Amino acid sequence: MEDKDFSQVIEDIGAVISAHHSFLLMSHVRPDGDAIGSQIALGFSLMAMGKEVYLVNEDGVPESLEFLKGSEKVTLPPKEAIEVDVAIALDTATKPRLGDKSLHAASKAKVWLNIDHHISNPAYGDVNLINARKPATGQIVYELLIALGYPIPDETRDAIYVAVSTDTGSFQYASTTAETYVLGADLIRRGLNVGKINADTYDNHPYRRLELMRALLNTLQISEDGQLAYWELLDKTRMDLDLQPDDSEGLIDMIRSVKGVRVAVFFEELPDGKIRVSMRSKDSGVNVCDVAMTFGGGGHALAAGIRMAGPLVDAKPRVLSALRSALASQNNF
Ligand code: 5GP
Ligand code: MN
Repeated sequence: MEDKDFSQVIEDIGAVISAHHSFLLMSHVRPDGDAIGSQIALGFSLMAMGKEVYLVNEDGVPESLEFLKGSEKVTLPPKEAIEVDVAIALDTATKPRLGDKSLHAASKAKVWLNIDHHISNPAYGDVNLINARKPATGQIVYELLIALGYPIPDETRDAIYVAVSTDTGSFQYASTTAETYVLGADLIRRGLNVGKINADTYDNHPYRRLELMRALLNTLQISEDGQLAYWELLDKTRMDLDLQPDDSEGLIDMIRSVKGVRVAVFFEELPDGKIRVSMRSKDSGVNVCDVAMTFGGGGHALAAGIRMAGPLVDAKPRVLSALRSALASQNNF
């Protein structure tokens, strides 16, 4: 999106917000820090303006994000559709990824806003603020609030930081820009307690997460050329360790960090029999979003995911072979 479009879209979003009173904010299933953080950030700013705001997520707030002030306002979708003027989808590449119950809750909304940073987003809103160059939806929300002069209460400030920090691997990934650090500096000037929020985000894991890491390491495999590394989480392990869905968040970074590895993959058997695939590329020449899309998934060039039919013994070789081809075609250049 060019900057001229950006200011026009910001203006359009400002007009929709001014003209309406009630808002339902949603984000993707199995939400991460950017999803929940963006909801809380925009939600509390709108509340501070006197708007009626509902925050809903198909899977609720993961235990690891419950420390966020305002997270208690994010609820599971109610059975009945909510009487709201505007539905806002945040950090959600495709409409179905909001979840069926959330979509039903939003079915009475007259206007849809779609705010996201996924390149695969097909622009399903009435107004679409999508910029794949932004490292996090939280950064887009921040820029929107600043541009429109909206309030930034403490809940919003902290949630923006967590959204951006978690989606940039603590301000490390290549997607991080000068604007990202300006955002961090501005939030600290606004009173953010940076030591505490990082400790809450990164040094606060349940013991079972380490047990999960041990189980995953026992399944670790690497291709002969050392470029493709992967591990898997079986449903049995999930039950044995009594895992929560977010316990595996970020663990794929361990295999990505290995010298020589260009693509890291995490296979996970879901309780419904489907397979979740998480992929990370360390190499701008290998676009894992393209590979994900051939299986009906999506995401970003360097971080993408798929939810596909099981069993694992069928899904795994299909994905690995597609990744081997992607790596091989890159090696030929
Ligand atoms: P993760 O591996 O952390 O779950 O996801 C990495 C990225 O891929 C995220 O931006 C996420 O939104 C996207 N992603 C993960 N799973 C899916 C999926 O099943 N479908 C689509 N469209 N995107 C996904
Ligand atoms: Mn995101």
